[in-house]
Amino acid sequence: MDRLKEKSQQLSTITQMSAGIAHEIKNPLTAIKGFLQIGAANPELRDNYQDIILDEVNRIEAIVQDFMMLSKPKSSLQTEEVEPGDVVSYVTRLLAPEADEKNVQLIFNPKRINETIRTEPKRLNQILINLVKNAIDAVDTGGLVSIVAELTTHELTLSVSDNGPGLNAQELSKIGEPFFTTKEKGTGLGVMVTKKIVGDLNGTISYKSKKGEGTKVTVRLPR
Ligand code: ADP
Ligand code: MG
Repeated sequence: MDRLKEKSQQLSTITQMSAGIAHEIKNPLTAIKGFLQIGAANPELRDNYQDIILDEVNRIEAIVQDFMMLSKPKSSLQTEEVEPGDVVSYVTRLLAPEADEKNVQLIFNPKRINETIRTEPKRLNQILINLVKNAIDAVDTGGLVSIVAELTTHELTLSVSDNGPGLNAQELSKIGEPFFTTKEKGTGLGVMVTKKIVGDLNGTISYKSKKGEGTKVTVRLPR
């Protein structure tokens, strides 16, 4: 592609992203403003809106956090020797309360790998957190989310499987597009951020899903 075309495509991506961000932040702001105005005019109603206002502030915070992750340069990588099992155990413990609350079984069989890979624990954590959260969100009460970690000579494979509703071909093609979400409180940025971080770690990510059967996401990271 010639440089001019490339530049104009970049510009159009930036324009689209900015419009998306502005829109996604404006919606909760409008809601917050509206509820504050109602509260100002009717002090006796204020308590009714506190939780909505907090929810909407949290949504703005989540969007901003995701974008901060996106803008982190790859050069900020701080790698160290990490035992993959430790990372998965950490994330499993971190998300256990969320899974429990929904009565979702979170399974991780830490096959003692006993070997390390050189990577950045923070980014690796973030990948797993995003994928496991999506899996927990996807399944019904009583559902199953399972994490498998495998290490070969060349790579670490992490997979997160769920028995949720799965995705059809059209949804699969949309996943990872900015602001694609089917959740009432979603940001639609999680998968995009995850893909970006996997790229920072020189890895690959793939989705395998069947409508009605569940989803399996596999991340491969070179050692
Ligand atoms: P968010 O979680 O805020 O909606 P994501 O980018 O993390 O944003 O996910 C985008 C969408 O992809 C979700 O809203 C959901 O529709 C779909 N999705 C992601 N992971 C799964 C999964 N494991 N099973 C079914 N759908 C999923
Ligand atoms: Mg998500």
